[in-house]
Amino acid sequence: MVQKQQEFLLVKRIVIIGAGFAGVWSALSATRLLDKHTIGPDQIEVTVVAPRASLDLRPRFYEANVAEMTAPVGALFEAAGVRFVAGTVEVIDAKGKAIEYVDPSGTHVRLAYDRLVLASGSRVVRPAIPGLSDYAFSIDQLDEASQFEAHLRSLAGRQDSLARNTAIVVGGGFTGIEIATELPARMQSILGEGAQVRVIVIERADAIGPELGAGPRPVIVEALASQGVECRLSTSVEEIDAGGVRTTTGERIDSLSVVWTGGMRASALTEQINCQRDAIGRLLVDADLRVASAPEIFATGDTARARTDASGNYTLMSCQHALGLGRFSGNNAAADLLGIPTLPYTQERYATCLDLGPWGSVVTSGWDRVVQLSGAEAKQRKRYINSTVIMPPSPVREEALAAADPSLARNPTSVQARA
Ligand SMILES: Cc1cc2nc3c(=O)[nH]c(=O)nc-3n(C[C@H](O)[C@H](O)[C@H](O)COP(=O)(O)OP(=O)(O)OC[C@H]3O[C@@H](n4cnc5c(N)ncnc54)[C@H](O)[C@@H]3O)c2cc1C
Repeated sequence: MVQKQQEFLLVKRIVIIGAGFAGVWSALSATRLLDKHTIGPDQIEVTVVAPRASLDLRPRFYEANVAEMTAPVGALFEAAGVRFVAGTVEVIDAKGKAIEYVDPSGTHVRLAYDRLVLASGSRVVRPAIPGLSDYAFSIDQLDEASQFEAHLRSLAGRQDSLARNTAIVVGGGFTGIEIATELPARMQSILGEGAQVRVIVIERADAIGPELGAGPRPVIVEALASQGVECRLSTSVEEIDAGGVRTTTGERIDSLSVVWTGGMRASALTEQINCQRDAIGRLLVDADLRVASAPEIFATGDTARARTDASGNYTLMSCQHALGLGRFSGNNAAADLLGIPTLPYTQERYATCLDLGPWGSVVTSGWDRVVQLSGAEAKQRKRYINSTVIMPPSPVREEALAAADPSLARNPTSVQARA
């Protein structure tokens, strides 16, 4: 049975689904605009619905001690005057302007909205490769990355063997490269200096980091080679079992640790909105991040494909864009409800910062990804991004709301994450 939340007739409500980068910044930017117009929660309430009041730092899931890679946001929401509801949304009823979520006790609850912001992120795609769901690890979600870390630690208690000492990373994109360059040193410290650690990347394209382009590739290749990471290019995985993989080139590789990083898809909730989608399930949104077919719904973060600039570039599934998109989507949902003009989303500057393990990192700028920094200097930048830029603000209302100003997303230095 679906319970209906008690409604107070005069209160309007902006509901935000998700407490990731885009969701947290949407909530703060909506509250900021309402605050500027002296509208309190007794008139328009901003509500975030997510399983936990914690922002999972997905860009850091390749690092050790992954259980710590989440930042509590309960106190921040409380300080800002954002209502948090623990729940997993199962239904978006665009016609009825309501969502249905399941709360931690298992109760189904219906919650009406006046404006909805969809910020439910993305998931790694798991194709129907035999054995993938049973035997491959993932670092996509916090629980999955924690399981992989626990598995790596457990290898110390296993008998020395080729399979124990070998890790296979399937997918040589951004995430695959970051975990592959992290693993040699991590496995060596777990297995001991004597162990013959081997890390192999399997990539179906004919070059490593296919989506990163030619600019940073020589640096990436150097970093992989210097840490002994092997690459199998133009190769896919055909089958995975408890002891390793078989590839499309007919090779059998023994490994107890296969990590799947093969591509992302927007949250399944996007499928409940009648709207055009791109090849990875993202909703095509207008300049103000509104879903054209459902004008009370805004999509943001990894659920939205939005144009970033006049040159025709579009957002990527990245923290860098989620931080900017969030600041616009919340602002615009609130502006629309107040009947004032919304702001067209722009985020002109684009940069990347890819971690390459103990070797260092590489920083590029622009959509053609021209290398700006590499090695130890770039690693310092990566550490700064991971420990500061992507973190939610402190739970101090004025500071948090000021930081949610959408104009900051246009500022080159303030919102640079896949940066
Ligand atoms: C391993 C890894 C490494 C990455 N590295 C980088 C990097 O170096 N740089 C970079 O810029 N990007 C990186 N990314 C991508 C980046 O993490 C995402 O683009 C970013 O997290 C998107 O933010 P988001 O807020 O849209 O979604 P998310 O951060 O995924 O947040 C989604 C939120 O929605 C909630 N949610 C989901 N479903 C529901 C539901 N049904 N009901 C209620 N709530 C729901 C989730 O619990 C979560 O709170 C990486 C991603 C991964 C997985």
